[in-house]
Amino acid sequence: MNHPRIVVLGAGIVGASIAYHLARQGAEVTVLEQSSPGSGVTAHSFAWINPLGEFPAAARPLRTQALADYRRLEQELPDLQINWSGALCYHPEDVPSADDQQPGLARQWLDQDRIGQLEPNLRQPPERARFAPGEGSLDPLAVTDCLLEGARRHGARILLQTAALELQVQGQEPVRVITSTGVHQADHVVLATGCGTPALLAPLGIELPVQPSPSILLRLDAPPGLVKTLVSNDLLEIREASDGSLLAAEDYIDAQGPQGPQAIAEQALASIHQSFRGAESVTLRSVEVGQRPMPVDQLPVIGPCHTHPRLYLAVMHAGVTLAPTVGRLICQELLQARQCAELAPCRPDRFGH
Ligand SMILES: Cc1cc2nc3c(=O)[nH]c(=O)nc-3n(C[C@H](O)[C@H](O)[C@H](O)COP(=O)(O)OP(=O)(O)OC[C@H]3O[C@@H](n4cnc5c(N)ncnc54)[C@H](O)[C@@H]3O)c2cc1C
Repeated sequence: MNHPRIVVLGAGIVGASIAYHLARQGAEVTVLEQSSPGSGVTAHSFAWINPLGEFPAAARPLRTQALADYRRLEQELPDLQINWSGALCYHPEDVPSADDQQPGLARQWLDQDRIGQLEPNLRQPPERARFAPGEGSLDPLAVTDCLLEGARRHGARILLQTAALELQVQGQEPVRVITSTGVHQADHVVLATGCGTPALLAPLGIELPVQPSPSILLRLDAPPGLVKTLVSNDLLEIREASDGSLLAAEDYIDAQGPQGPQAIAEQALASIHQSFRGAESVTLRSVEVGQRPMPVDQLPVIGPCHTHPRLYLAVMHAGVTLAPTVGRLICQELLQARQCAELAPCRPDRFGH
């Protein structure tokens, strides 16, 4: 099968990357998206390319390739913009670790003077912080569009406002995808449908333990250049967006009341006012809650369904970080029949399907 017909369900950043990599290698790709590109959780992402963040150790071989894959994509897609600002992290529990020396991911421990040079508006730079100069962030909608445009240039069809309603699978027959606008047949169907995946699989008797996990994104109007790098500490995760505004990510605690998103946003705003010189004029533009597709063990779910091998799952947290690497590896698995070792811990059959 040199040019298999592949339907990719979902045009978030993960589906867009998979479609791009497959189309580039000659597959006949159709993307079906129920709404518009990136309209799922991708639109609400803080979008830090964060290969060494908190995550299960088994995902490490996958995540540590993210920076190199984004650098590759920058070469392949000249319109793809990444802000390689570096990330400055200081949490009380942080101590030097072997990860600091990982080739290509190196992080440095900086003293107060150096931190002050990197973030001159910080009122009270910490005594030391870990700086990852090779990390960055991106505009998740712009990057999703860019990947889809790349896929389109390689012949992919992108059908928006097209919801997959039912998957019909019978033995080795091509899969039939019943949608709101017609029927599509495919040799493989990749489900990059985030939080929508369990509902698509349930009628096939497959229970996928992926739950929506809420998280809060704040957009703030601010003087440009207030925050230079990406700063992550116990109070804040904050960076400048491509339009000069600020983005901050916060943990979600409650739907409303004193621990609800609006109250958390007000606390974050107060922290920004206190933490940065010149931040008095910073105001809150919006408070958004995004539902992250979170597998029960927090490991990505990537691979063919045990019972229906023509269905291939691609559901994960930290999808912004992982998108370019999983796109490349899934393409190898589907087009070259390779089993990528990095994906071994991510297989859906670990849930006993
Ligand atoms: C506040 C916040 C901060 C975050 N920060 C980071 C970060 O710093 N770094 C990081 O790596 N990750 C971060 N994340 C997580 C990251 O945003 C997600 O992991 C990633 O966007 C998931 O992308 P996706 O394409 O899998 O899902 P989605 O963007 O949800 O895409 C799934 C798509 O499938 C479509 N769909 C669903 N069902 C159907 C159907 N039946 N038919 C057709 N289409 C369908 C949806 O409309 C949607 O467009 C953050 C998330 C939040 C909320």
